[in-house]
Amino acid sequence: MTVKEVDVLIIGAGPAGSMAAREASKNGAKTLIIDKKSEIGTPKRCGEGIMDGVLEKVELEVDERCIARHIDGARLVAPDGTSAWFTSETLETPATGVVLERKVFDKHVTMDAIRSGAEVMLKTEATGITRSDDSLIVDIHTFNNSFDQVKAKIVIGADGPEGRVGSWMGLNTKVPLSEMESGAQYEMTNLKMEKSDTIEFYFGSVAPGGYAWIFPKGYDTANVGIDVSGIKGEKTALEYLDDFIAQNEETMDGQIVEVNVGGNPLCGVFDKIIADNFMLVGDAAGCVSPITGGGIDTGLESGMMAGRVAARCIREGNYSEANLQEYSDYVNENIGKRFEKLITVRDFIYNLDDDDMNEYLGAIANANITKLSTKALLKAMIKVSPRKLLKLRKLL
Ligand SMILES: Cc1cc2nc3c(=O)[nH]c(=O)nc-3n(C[C@H](O)[C@H](O)[C@H](O)COP(=O)(O)OP(=O)(O)OC[C@H]3O[C@@H](n4cnc5c(N)ncnc54)[C@H](O)[C@@H]3O)c2cc1C
Repeated sequence: MTVKEVDVLIIGAGPAGSMAAREASKNGAKTLIIDKKSEIGTPKRCGEGIMDGVLEKVELEVDERCIARHIDGARLVAPDGTSAWFTSETLETPATGVVLERKVFDKHVTMDAIRSGAEVMLKTEATGITRSDDSLIVDIHTFNNSFDQVKAKIVIGADGPEGRVGSWMGLNTKVPLSEMESGAQYEMTNLKMEKSDTIEFYFGSVAPGGYAWIFPKGYDTANVGIDVSGIKGEKTALEYLDDFIAQNEETMDGQIVEVNVGGNPLCGVFDKIIADNFMLVGDAAGCVSPITGGGIDTGLESGMMAGRVAARCIREGNYSEANLQEYSDYVNENIGKRFEKLITVRDFIYNLDDDDMNEYLGAIANANITKLSTKALLKAMIKVSPRKLLKLRKLL
């Protein structure tokens, strides 16, 4: 039995894990990051969209190769086709962002971790965890049999939406079916988008309990996807996606160049994301927006904080849950509380029927919104039906 010893072991080299690795190693911890995949970032399971400011917040400089398309705002489409456009033509403060090339971006974040001193092992899968004195022992299956176990003072579970590492540690990471969205997406080309630099969201029965999207990656190329509720959909996410594509003028002549499917946990941050010697980050911790299913930003943010706290605990020689609490408090304060509000909005929006959805999106389209925010959208909706939206009023 060959055992490798490190200060911090990170399981999963997605954005959250690689960011945790960068920060842990930069701050002095001997860090190993492993991933069961043979290529980081591939296959992608992501619409790849992020808002401006996300990368700056985690001090990540990327070159243009990581970016497929710069985005100028969004279009929200009601079941009756009414569109609310929020672009630099309508907004005082433009809502800009990028559609990433995750296959390049994820590698870039991992390379940053390597440059900070972290070691990376691919095709290396964690298969179980046991406790030994003041460390954790992780069973490993590597492609080259270079070691069988890793002994780590701190383990960070960054193993994504279907992660099992948290449950191995006794944390409750079960997502109720009602809060699990099924995602399906094609990268498509030969599309005829009205504006090929605006992301589009389609609501209503086209995607029960969720939404469909078109995120442009080029003038005629985009990620076209759908998220549907685990309990509301009568068909599979792929069937809803095929119907959406066949009925939408922008996509009906498109051709598929990539298929992506995956689950999205929309329950918000799990109640407990730390234990002695252990932290969860990113999707594995529930750091996924309960309304959009987006988790690149909060994955990076949680990973950054976890890596920093892990390095401090290593320096102090104290890996207890109490000493890791700073990380959990940060996530709850900066991500969890915001998500709790979004869950209320989500439960309202995703339960509307098509008629109500037409009415609310019609109101939003006519509201002359010049600064795009959840608050601005809620205000426009509340005007339509103040009594129905009493619950949402509290969020303003
Ligand atoms: C259809 C769809 C569309 C989406 N669109 C967007 C979007 O437009 N914008 C956005 O912000 N977010 C989006 N998301 C969410 C986003 O993809 C995730 O939030 C993000 O990838 C989470 O990063 P992560 O590092 O936590 O996990 P992941 O990126 O999932 O990485 C986890 C890694 O852990 C590895 N792993 C798992 N188990 C083990 C193990 N036992 N041993 C070793 N390695 C292991 C996996 O191979 C994987 O590489 C979308 C998700 C889906 C499903």
